[in-house]
Amino acid sequence: MEHMNNYQQIYAEIKAANKIAISSHRSPDGDSIGCSLGLYHFLLKLDKEVVVIHPDVAPLYLRWVKGSEDMLYHDQDPSAVEEELGSADLLISVDYNAPDRVGFNLEPAIRRFSGRKVVIDHHLHPDLDFYDVVLSDTTAGSTSELIYKLIEASGNDTLLDSTIGTPLYLGIMTDTGSFRFPSMKPETHEILARLMRAGVVHYDVHERVFDTNTVDRLKLRGYAISEKLELIPDRPIAYMTLSQAELERFNYQKGDTEGLVNVALSVEGIKVAAFFAEKDGIVKISFRSKGEFVVNELASDHFEGGGHKYAAGGISREGILSAVEKFRSQIDNYFPKK
Ligand code: 5GP
Ligand code: MN
Repeated sequence: MEHMNNYQQIYAEIKAANKIAISSHRSPDGDSIGCSLGLYHFLLKLDKEVVVIHPDVAPLYLRWVKGSEDMLYHDQDPSAVEEELGSADLLISVDYNAPDRVGFNLEPAIRRFSGRKVVIDHHLHPDLDFYDVVLSDTTAGSTSELIYKLIEASGNDTLLDSTIGTPLYLGIMTDTGSFRFPSMKPETHEILARLMRAGVVHYDVHERVFDTNTVDRLKLRGYAISEKLELIPDRPIAYMTLSQAELERFNYQKGDTEGLVNVALSVEGIKVAAFFAEKDGIVKISFRSKGEFVVNELASDHFEGGGHKYAAGGISREGILSAVEKFRSQIDNYFPKK
């Protein structure tokens, strides 16, 4: 089930709805923010009543997007979020495939939702039982791209402006590693061209995301690279770890370690990279890979996680050392030497 292109059906659900709640996954990234707010502004243009509810707030470098100020966060104001969910008659889940991805605290309210439920996503294994309409395209590089296609398929491309287009550009940019991952297609560049023609100032988006380092953030990254990068001998595998104490030493702010796993993957010859960071007693793990190696199975089998073939994540509750030990012990099983 690679494609379920239910654009028309979703547009019909939107037209029929009185109040729409858009929700996305925990630990927001550029795509979850981009597709949520791109869809939000599109629905506002259709004169819909719409609210964006997220489990938690995005890092600063994603909070400049127009509409961020209207978003509600369950970890800051659970009753407001649950009230909004209670009065909406359509839930649109974007950039996640199943209710558990919103995190432990918000999940029950999502499960209780009594209206129509739609999912628009590009992760594997959408929860077919939970949703009434599923738009799942795992070949898409980002969910933001799917929101663009929804706008186009619904015959509303004339509504496209920089307010809708900027978050979509952001989501496509971040989820394709600035237009370089294998998920990029000629079609994606065509969409980007249309977003620019609609008024998106592309260099502004890049600057806001990539040129907003704090000195602490840069030093944390420098430290991680110079002191904490480990290579597995004779294997194309690298990983980094950062303990809570190390993060605190550099005044860690949300988002500061974003992309470090890709730095490990950028070492010449490396095809599998892992990044372990300890936050509030839980180890959050990011996996990335290339070529013949895929990481989502390792993430789901051993780290309570999942994701895409080449970008996955999970957690460990047993501390960094044992998480690393587990990772190393599975190398032969998941990334066998040829
Ligand atoms: P990241 O390393 O950026 O946190 O996550 C990369 C990808 O892995 C995400 O886009 C998501 O698909 C997946 N992922 C990360 N953490 C989890 C998790 O705890 N559970 C599941 N199912 N997927 C995850
Ligand atoms: Mn995404």
